[in-house]
Amino acid sequence: MEIKKLHGLVLDANEYVVRKDNECLLIDCGARLDDVIMATGGKKVVGILLTHGHYDHSLNCLEQAKHFDCKIYANENIKDTLMDPEASYSEDGTIIDDFSRFEFIEGDKKVKVGRFIIDCYYCPGHSNCCECYMIDDLLFAGDVLFENGVGRTDLKSSSREKMYNSLCKLEKIKFDKVYSGHGNASDYDFQMKNISVFKRFLSR
Ligand SMILES: [Zn+2]
Repeated sequence: MEIKKLHGLVLDANEYVVRKDNECLLIDCGARLDDVIMATGGKKVVGILLTHGHYDHSLNCLEQAKHFDCKIYANENIKDTLMDPEASYSEDGTIIDDFSRFEFIEGDKKVKVGRFIIDCYYCPGHSNCCECYMIDDLLFAGDVLFENGVGRTDLKSSSREKMYNSLCKLEKIKFDKVYSGHGNASDYDFQMKNISVFKRFLSR
């Protein structure tokens, strides 16, 4: 599996192009379409996974889904976030209210997209629509886990308590690497320490 990280247009959110043989998956949609097309190298894009609905991660999802003629997979609660600029933190008030290409995920689920088998873990806390995706042994965590921290819990639809529970859930999963919604990737041992520090912080 090959992973390319693209820079998003807002808050430098990461968009990932994950390639397996001749198929690609996109994770989040904050980057320019031209950059995504270049990164796919002409391979077929079989689907888009959104980690949550914040604008920096979702802004170009309809454009990219239309261009690649694919579906968008996301937690079922994302609708409320995408339709509310105060919840998505959209800079210019833009909302997304066309869900014709969406396939909603309820909680924890295994999903097959092209040749990718994806374990989806519902991890609310940063927002109520955060879904983490495990592909092979790589965890795409959006804004739940960062290299040095966890996502903010002071935003609309955030919850410290739910973040704590989500960290407990992720702690039980054996993964090799975490690819976050911002910043660098990190490995399992590093994240186990990170999670235990922030669990203590959140339980205060
Ligand atoms: Zn976010």
